[in-house]
Amino acid sequence: MKFVLNGKKRTAEVGTTVLEAARAAGVDVPAVCAHDALEPYGACRLCVVEVREQGKKRPRVVASCLYPVKDGIEVETDTPRIRKLRRFLLELLLARSPGSPYVRELAARYGVTKTRFSKLDDDCILCGLCVRVCSDIVGANAIGFSQRGIGRKVESPFGIDHSRCIACGACAYVCPTDAIDMEYERVIELRREGGEHPCRYTLMGFLSDAVCSLNYECFRCEIDQKFRAEAHTHPMLARKQPRRKARA
Ligand code: SF4
Ligand code: SF4
Repeated sequence: MKFVLNGKKRTAEVGTTVLEAARAAGVDVPAVCAHDALEPYGACRLCVVEVREQGKKRPRVVASCLYPVKDGIEVETDTPRIRKLRRFLLELLLARSPGSPYVRELAARYGVTKTRFSKLDDDCILCGLCVRVCSDIVGANAIGFSQRGIGRKVESPFGIDHSRCIACGACAYVCPTDAIDMEYERVIELRREGGEHPCRYTLMGFLSDAVCSLNYECFRCEIDQKFRAEAHTHPMLARKQPRRKARA
């Protein structure tokens, strides 16, 4: 597919999203709910860009993570209209998570240091990465969203059932704001079960019958360090290749 990105001619494979193509071309487009290993989600809307389709006079604002590159489109990623929209969204994020260094840094990149909205104090920005990693990659379905509106949050079924969690830590790994501290809870639960504690890489299916002798202090474990070093990411994420190859 041939298209124009910020005034430059580019190409991309069929099926590539505008976000993927922009990032492949080294263009910075913010997106807090996107991950190469996951299907697009379109929740944060920070990845909005302007797209002018062939034969159309006016550009449209679209979420670039959901919009596939089409022949002949012209994409602008950093217009005044786009920056204004992103600043508004970042103000909302800043109101939700004013103490999150990740959110503050991202907002500051767009000159947003204050918010006109009422502040909460929740490090979770509801990006959904943890929930989708747990269901789509790990296959555990151990966490999900509950409640609505400002009460919306991520938790285990009914807030109490941790039995599906295999303590893989993939959710904490992908969380951009470090809002997850669930592994410790799971460790305690496994200890309570008594007997030998299976290595979490056994629970993930990488090793057969390995036993943890370090009380799940994985940071002290050579096995853990080896898996992480070889994967260059969380091992569960390394199992899943990026969805599509983008080229630009
Ligand atoms: S640690 Fe538990 S909740 Fe987190 S991704 Fe793994 S199975 Fe899911
Ligand atoms: S806990 Fe982290 S990864 Fe999960 S929705 Fe909240 S910010 Fe996103």
